[in-house]
Amino acid sequence: MLDIHQTSTAVSDRGSKQQLESAAIILDCREHGESDLIVTFFCRDHGRLTGIAKGAKRSKKRFVNKLEIFTSLLIRHTMPENRRLAFIAEAELLKSFLTLRQDISCYTTANVIRECILLATQEMEGDEQLYPLLIWAFTSLDSGRPPQAILILFLIRFFTAIGYSPQLRRCLNCSQEVHERETYTFYTTVGTIRCSNCSKREESSGTPLSLGTIKSLTAAQDQPLDRLQRLQLSPHSQKEALSFLHHYGRQLFQREIISWSFLDTISSKNVYRSR
Ligand SMILES: [Zn+2]
Repeated sequence: MLDIHQTSTAVSDRGSKQQLESAAIILDCREHGESDLIVTFFCRDHGRLTGIAKGAKRSKKRFVNKLEIFTSLLIRHTMPENRRLAFIAEAELLKSFLTLRQDISCYTTANVIRECILLATQEMEGDEQLYPLLIWAFTSLDSGRPPQAILILFLIRFFTAIGYSPQLRRCLNCSQEVHERETYTFYTTVGTIRCSNCSKREESSGTPLSLGTIKSLTAAQDQPLDRLQRLQLSPHSQKEALSFLHHYGRQLFQREIISWSFLDTISSKNVYRSR
């Protein structure tokens, strides 16, 4: 049975061009010439790869309606060599994640996730945590879970996976553990919270985080992936969390997350608004 969680397997070896079969998510697909497509996909073993699907625009059998953004596929491909593109021979649909292309809230959320993955990864850099996290996020969105909560849970785990886990357990300056009688502010430049006493001495502005939000987010950092969606965040916590995660992402990437601006336009309740 085909499995979206599977890793790559070698399927043939013709000379130096070994062909692999990888379960992957399509992150980008653009036209190239009259009939080819350039496809960027993300798989567990090799991370982000970019390849060319020759004749894909004409091929009814090998690729038709498969090389769509956010789709999960089993891709038969070579590895890129000498800075050249991988060669994509064939693709088999694993899961279309149709909701992500049809529902505007899911689409804009998935697009932020996609942009963050593209910003944080290099070609051919495998990562054991990112691929399952990406599958978890897209599966959760596709099954109708609230997009803003999925984005928060994805981002808090994503920053940990790329080595920049926000430190929310104790004040950076006095090292006191988070407790009920204190208020906290998150500082994006250092990726850590400070208590009210220590914040007063800081000149740079931070994002206030309530205790409830801090507790929800640290729980999200600790939970196994298959239990992550059980976490509930209040509307207030969602607003706070999105604001700080947005600022933190901009600080880490040293640029705006372009697709984030579309989140603001889709929610009438303003739960996505971060400023
Ligand atoms: Zn302190």
